[in-house]
Amino acid sequence: MGCLFCDIAGGRHDAHLIYEDDSHIAILDKYPIQPGHSLVIPREHHEKIIDVPEEGVSSLFTKVPMLARAILKATGADGFNIGQNNGKAANQIIPHVHVHIIPRYEKLSNPWKRRMIATDEELRELAGRIRKFVSSA
Ligand SMILES: [Zn+2]
Repeated sequence: MGCLFCDIAGGRHDAHLIYEDDSHIAILDKYPIQPGHSLVIPREHHEKIIDVPEEGVSSLFTKVPMLARAILKATGADGFNIGQNNGKAANQIIPHVHVHIIPRYEKLSNPWKRRMIATDEELRELAGRIRKFVSSA
């Protein structure tokens, strides 16, 4: 089955390119959360960040500040979020790893307002469970 981001990286599908090099491209998101919303995409196909070799992850995230600076200058945004979704449950639409750079504007609403309040007990128990898997992950 075809992959939209492989097609864009290979020049077989149009996109609004803002950057490219030998191993990455960056494009404007066709369905932006806010103006300037961009995607940084490795040319190599992997579905999720946990499938990418460490050097690839490092290389991918190295591009993010440079691109974010350019986006901030071009849009006049007041801040930005970096997002990286993995799996349908996490809102990953295209199954080819990518990093979202989402500019934020003081004058526009912030969709990150709804948060849960966890108890110390819940957090202590969960932190303990996660720590057990960190070294073996
Ligand atoms: Zn792909």
